[in-house]
Amino acid sequence: MNKLIAVTRSSMPSFEEYCEEIKVLWENRWLSNRGCKHKEFEAQLAEFFGEPNVFLYANGHVALEVGIDAFHFPKGSEVITTPYTHCSTTHSIARNGLVPVFVDVNDKDYTIDVMKIEDAITDKTVAIMATHVYGVMCDVEAIDKIAKKYGLKVIYDAAHAFGVKKEGKDVSHWGDMAMFSTHATKVFHTIEGGITVFKDEKYQKRLNTLVNFGFDGPEDVVHISTNARMNEFEAAMGICNLRHFWDEVAKREKVAARYHQHLDGVEGIHFIAPQPGVTQNYAYFPVFFDGYKYTRNEIQARLAEDNILARKYFYPIIPDLSCYQMNYAGQTFPVSKHAADTVLALPMFADLTEQDVERICRIILD
Ligand SMILES: *Cc1c(COP(=O)(O)O)cnc(C)c1O
Repeated sequence: MNKLIAVTRSSMPSFEEYCEEIKVLWENRWLSNRGCKHKEFEAQLAEFFGEPNVFLYANGHVALEVGIDAFHFPKGSEVITTPYTHCSTTHSIARNGLVPVFVDVNDKDYTIDVMKIEDAITDKTVAIMATHVYGVMCDVEAIDKIAKKYGLKVIYDAAHAFGVKKEGKDVSHWGDMAMFSTHATKVFHTIEGGITVFKDEKYQKRLNTLVNFGFDGPEDVVHISTNARMNEFEAAMGICNLRHFWDEVAKREKVAARYHQHLDGVEGIHFIAPQPGVTQNYAYFPVFFDGYKYTRNEIQARLAEDNILARKYFYPIIPDLSCYQMNYAGQTFPVSKHAADTVLALPMFADLTEQDVERICRIILD
């Protein structure tokens, strides 16, 4: 069997660097609940984003759930969102007692189609929740304009978009809230973890309560909430990985360029075009097989035979999942569906070698 190439591989600091970072935890025995590493990491992120209202969580999903809870929307309110995303986006709406209302994506970059948002707004709509899918930025200006016109909050699932900038400003600058997942498979990770960035400082106090069962001081609990805290070992991993983040992105950029050398201009193989003014993080390498001599499924199977794991990311679309389909019967999202039927995320990580990329592309092209 040929060497396994997984779809992703976590970036890691050296063993020694991480050990050095966590040494203090053996002395202070403070392993969770806003210890020194948590505070240090939070401060570093505020500087990294250029945004002060940073908050850390146990994972990206609870960051979304708790972050939405902080807005205190009335139960049953509607949130306009994208069908082409991770189920976590939709779950975080539904699990807050809110109703996801899907608007199809556009056929250029597969982010929410801003031309279709206004038609979906009703008097129950409270927010627009869009995903910067693959780190490709939504049309943040258009979304902002619509939100202002109708008095809606804007929430971004920026799980893929850590480090992405538009005209020099971090992606978290846009929206009332942006969430980053720092799961081991993401472009920047803390083993498991999540981050929110809120525009308005006033939510930080409520977040503090919401991540800790709803405790407000030691003797009262004011919300029926969850435990969503990040621990010190995760924060320490974040501190280490942040030191090397731009080096890792530069390596990923090289990998992407190698893929393009092999696959550009081949009939039936498509990519999302780079966006003007946006610097990418190369979190994923999604390829769309549309009109190619083999189908996406055939390519995926052929790669798997050679021990190369590529992923249908995202497939199926959210309204087609068993847990949602009964609520959206009869609604169609043709652009999302077409993307889900043609997309294949090829292996993408900093250490992917030139030979590996060649091996992958040879199989696709032969
Ligand atoms: C990974 C991911 C999440 C969930 O993050 P976890 O840290 O795995 O909980 C949410 N949304 C999107 C778009 C993701 O890719």
